[in-house]
Amino acid sequence: MKLLEYQARTLMEKFGIPVKPHIVVDEIPGVAERIRNAGLAYPLVIKAQVQTGGRGKAGGVQFAEDEDGAVKLCEKMLHMDIRGFRADELMISEKAEISREWYLSILLDRLTKSPLLIFSPAGGVDIEETAGTNPGMIAKVPLDPLRGVADYSISYIMDKTGADPRYRDALRDTVQKLFRMFFDYHAMLVEINPLGLDESGRLIALDGKVEIDDNALSVLPDIVAFREKLQEDPQVIEARKVNFHFIPMEDSGTVGVMSNGSGMLMSCIDLISKKGMKVHAALDLGGGATADRIAEAIRIMFKRPRIDTVFICIFGGITRCDEAARGACTAMAGTAGKRLILRMEGTNKEEAVRIIAGSGLPIVSAGDIPEAVEAICRGGREE
Ligand code: GDP
Ligand code: MN
Repeated sequence: MKLLEYQARTLMEKFGIPVKPHIVVDEIPGVAERIRNAGLAYPLVIKAQVQTGGRGKAGGVQFAEDEDGAVKLCEKMLHMDIRGFRADELMISEKAEISREWYLSILLDRLTKSPLLIFSPAGGVDIEETAGTNPGMIAKVPLDPLRGVADYSISYIMDKTGADPRYRDALRDTVQKLFRMFFDYHAMLVEINPLGLDESGRLIALDGKVEIDDNALSVLPDIVAFREKLQEDPQVIEARKVNFHFIPMEDSGTVGVMSNGSGMLMSCIDLISKKGMKVHAALDLGGGATADRIAEAIRIMFKRPRIDTVFICIFGGITRCDEAARGACTAMAGTAGKRLILRMEGTNKEEAVRIIAGSGLPIVSAGDIPEAVEAICRGGREE
C-alpha cells in the first residue's frame, strides 16, 4: 500500500524526523482561514497529494508568497490530474529554506534479502537521471535487520559519494529513525527525496514516500485508517470485500488469470507472458472456493473492459472441481463475447468436464496448464 505524502509525514513525525508545519485541505472555501488558524508562515508550498512521484515536474508542487497566491494555487491545483491520479487533497506546508537536496531511502531488497540503504547527495527531482548518468553519486549498502544502522555504513555512503562529512551525525540520526520506521511499519520502501539541509545545519524531510507490505495490515490499524483516503482500484476494493485478492497488472493486457494459490497464479502468469501475451489482472481465490464464489470472481474479472479471456487454474483439494465448473457456467451464462479457459485437476474432475461440455457456453476445458496457455494464445488479440 502506497501512502500519500502527508500520511508519510505523520509517520516521520512520530519517529522524530523533522518536517515543516502543514495542513491538508480537500475544499477551497475556508482555505485562507485554515492557513491563518494553523499559523503557517509564508512562503508556503502547495503540494498535490497523489500516490505517485514526479509531482514537481508535473506541476503538482508550487510555491506561494502570500495568502492571495496560496488560495489561487489551491483553486488551480485541487483535483488536478497527475500521471493518471486525481489530487483530491492538497498539502499546504511552510516552505523550507534549504541549501542542499539529498536523497535517502531504505527498501526491502530481494537480491540481498535485507533492507537496503540508498543515499545520494545529489537528490531532488532528477535523481532517476543521476542514477543513469552519474551512478558514482549514489551509494547503496545493505543493513543488518538485527543490528540496525552501523556507523561504518554511514561513513561508507558519505565517503563514496563525497557528501560533506560535517553532517555525518545528522545523517546517522535520520537514517536510524527512518530504519525504525521501516521496521516497525513493515515497509517495503521508505524514501525521503529531498532530504533538505536547512540554515541551521538540520536535516529536514521535504517529501515522503512510504510503501507498506499489505500482508502486515492486520497489525497496523493506523495504516488501515489511511486507506480510506487513497484512490484504490475499484476491483481491488470489490474483491477485498469478499476476501479475494485482486492484482491489477498490465493495462494493455487482455487476459485475466485466477487460481487458488499465489504460487500457481505466478506460474500461470509466467507461462502466458513467455508466449508474448500480457496479463491484465490476476485474482487469488484462496482455498475452498464454492460455485458462488467462482462465479463472483469471474464477474469481477469481466468488469475490466480490456479482459476478453479469463483463465482459471484450479488444483482441486479443498476446492471441488465440479463446484468450480458450476460457478463458471453461472457466470458465463450472463457474459457475451468473452471466453473462459478452465484447467482443473483433482476432486470430481470428470464431473466438472462433463458439466462444461454440456453447457454450450464459450468455456474451454484444458487438460493441463500448457494446453490452457495454448488455448489462450490461439484466441488472443494482441496490439
Ligand atoms: P516530487 O516531485 O513528487 O518528488 O515532489 P517533491 O515534494 O519532492 O517536490 C519537488 C521539488 O520541489 C523538490 O525536489 C524541491 O526541489 C522542491 N521543494 C518541495 N518542497 C520544498 C520546500 O519546502 N522548500 C524548497 N526550497 N523546495 C521544495
Ligand atoms: Mn520528491
